[in-house]
Amino acid sequence: MRLSQYFLPILKENPREAEIVSHRLMLRAGMIRQQGQGSFSWLPLGKRVLEKVNTIIREEQNRAGALEILMPTIQSAELWRESGRYDAYGKEMLRIRDRQDREMLYGPTNEEMVTEIFRSYVKSYKDLPLNLYHIQWKFRDEVRPRFGVMRSREFLMKDAYSFDLDYEGAKAAYYRMFVSYLRTFTRVGMKAIPMRADTGPIGGDLSHEFIILAETGESQVYCDKAYLDLPVPGADTDFTDDAAIAGIVEQWTTPYAATDEMHDEDAWGQVEAGKQLAARGIEVGHIFHFGEKYSKPMGAKVQGPDGKEHFVSMGSYGIGPSRLVAGIIEASHDENGIVWPEEVAPFHVALINMKTGDAACDAACDKLYGELEAAGREVLYDDTDSRAGGKFATADLIGLPWQVIVGPRGLAANEVEIKNRKTGERRTVPLDNVVAALGASA
Ligand code: ATP
Ligand code: MG
Repeated sequence: MRLSQYFLPILKENPREAEIVSHRLMLRAGMIRQQGQGSFSWLPLGKRVLEKVNTIIREEQNRAGALEILMPTIQSAELWRESGRYDAYGKEMLRIRDRQDREMLYGPTNEEMVTEIFRSYVKSYKDLPLNLYHIQWKFRDEVRPRFGVMRSREFLMKDAYSFDLDYEGAKAAYYRMFVSYLRTFTRVGMKAIPMRADTGPIGGDLSHEFIILAETGESQVYCDKAYLDLPVPGADTDFTDDAAIAGIVEQWTTPYAATDEMHDEDAWGQVEAGKQLAARGIEVGHIFHFGEKYSKPMGAKVQGPDGKEHFVSMGSYGIGPSRLVAGIIEASHDENGIVWPEEVAPFHVALINMKTGDAACDAACDKLYGELEAAGREVLYDDTDSRAGGKFATADLIGLPWQVIVGPRGLAANEVEIKNRKTGERRTVPLDNVVAALGASA
């Protein structure tokens, strides 16, 4: 992409309304635009990151056996009356009336709707397990929307819902999502720690929040530093092997980890003092087993191997991709701007022409642009006539992993400079070696 043909509305000044660094940097880098309280447009640069995050989430949901669907944002109140949640949900729900004066709502979540789909089609245990997910906008009229897309009113959520014959099956489904989440957060460049979360009236121990550590996090969390070094399951993980999946979950739930609500001073005291990590955290995902909470009142049942009807045992599994983008920035930035992990970077390379209009610089940049794109590297080519200093500042601010800097002096020796955004390391390489140099150091 040529910057002269792109839409990258960089802000020079720090926006006053932004209290935390991710919000500030997302506004300054032209990723998002606030449209109303807790409501944001995603501009081209932001949209690219959001899509990369979604792609990784999708790949890992699919790998774990979940199937993607897409449900509407607007739902009927009738459906929510079946579960009893229409009245129970409270003020966070945005209630709407259509022209026939029917009560509708903008979905804050989709348990009722997906249960309705399930009960309409699935009648036998032979069609289980089933896990359906979608990535769809949600609306929650939060008491205190703040921190940009971190806590907004309209936000994106990946929500998956599992259906099983019994508790054992539901537990295996829960474990698959648990392991899928470990892989997902690692692939977006984050270390997310699964922490015991409140199960409320459902009881049991099948509720975990996935937390990334960051000073600006809204939750106080406590965990054993052992989590920082646990091995993350690889791409070859066999999600059909229940015992192997349970083994991974066991490894990842044995050291102490709890959010404030679940914190247990006695258990915490058992953790070696040097290994105690009390910190602030951001909840980026939440998985929850809730059994028959919806299947029973809504009549979602299947015939079991015993010939009898059973209400299915369910769980739900959420990730907030829009919050996650902000979380990644909270965890990965410096004083000059964002430092994108390679996997979610909007482009891989910032190609900087220090002297647009100079025939040699233009020709070298065109050549590099073509070669890098052909090698599968996504390039944002700064071909504008801004001054070099401004181009460097923009490249640092938007945080692409690599900068390739082309100037007349280097070109006289047939050389360009490569800068690694994260380490700040700079190297001079021959013009013909740029693609290989980036490939090797990626
Ligand atoms: P929180 O405690 O932060 O309000 P929650 O418990 O209400 O979160 P869930 O209902 O479990 O969240 O939703 C699943 C995921 O959706 C969360 O882990 C988070 O990543 C995301 N999410 C929830 N609320 C918001 C919001 N207001 N803005 C952005 N993302 C959100
Ligand atoms: Mg909430």
